[in-house]
Amino acid sequence: MTDTDVPCRVIALANQKGGVGKTTTAINLGAALAEKGKRVLIVDLDPQGNASTGLGIDNNLRVKTTYDLLLEPVTPTEIMMRTSVANLYVVPATADLSSADLEMVRSERRSYLLRDAIRRDENLNAELDFILIDCPPSLSLLTINAMVAANSVLVPLQSEFFALEGLSQLMLTIREVRQGANPELRIEGVVMTMYDGRNRLAQQVQIDARETLGDLVFKTVIPRNVRVSEAPSFAQPVLEYDTSSKGSIAYRQLAKELIAAGPSAA
Ligand code: ADP
Ligand code: MG
Repeated sequence: MTDTDVPCRVIALANQKGGVGKTTTAINLGAALAEKGKRVLIVDLDPQGNASTGLGIDNNLRVKTTYDLLLEPVTPTEIMMRTSVANLYVVPATADLSSADLEMVRSERRSYLLRDAIRRDENLNAELDFILIDCPPSLSLLTINAMVAANSVLVPLQSEFFALEGLSQLMLTIREVRQGANPELRIEGVVMTMYDGRNRLAQQVQIDARETLGDLVFKTVIPRNVRVSEAPSFAQPVLEYDTSSKGSIAYRQLAKELIAAGPSAA
């Protein structure tokens, strides 16, 4: 059996809090999966375009973007761009995307636009194994589109005091999407990010998260690592920028866990 027969797994990286590691996880989990030979597309769904920048896509090279994917009859594999990492592609975003909401609400299919774009792509399963959707820091129509298009949601959770607070709102939104547009939507897992093992508060947050969420929390914890935060300014995933850094090792481990869980794990 070739990978062509395996349906592409679509995973939304969501958390309405900003600065929790969504974009960093999209880029580096994507790079780690690509390193393992998986063909990965990152859809940059944040008007800030941080994933696109972090992957080295110059602003004036962003010709076809997520905006087009939502509002024009194009497909992901048609417009995706190569990155410096083999097997890793991106549909970039520009600031235009911030006005997409306004146009999207006029459409009857306003919540289904990303799913429609993915479904009309006849080459999807032949060309891609994973789509990682990097959501904006809100529960806006853009994030709803990601959840409707996705098989699962992966939640980066920053190891800090208020981390668990916003989670109930996020879970509520996931439940609403499940009750409506996407009954199959699963929670892929919660990944603790920017973890500093010397910090007692961070330790406690991790204990609390595992108590509250149980098996939903990935075993892999992403450490706070300066190399991870430096990499985007070199337009590279940390796996390329410093391949043996703690951050790189952790994201490889996360990729392994994700692959091992398979597409239908609860
Ligand atoms: P989000 O997409 O959720 O807004 P980002 O991925 O942009 O969050 O991360 C927020 C900031 O934290 C960025 O400056 C990023 O470089 C930094 N960061 C993320 N993960 C790590 C990490 N493991 N170690 C150090 N810095 C990190
Ligand atoms: Mg981001």
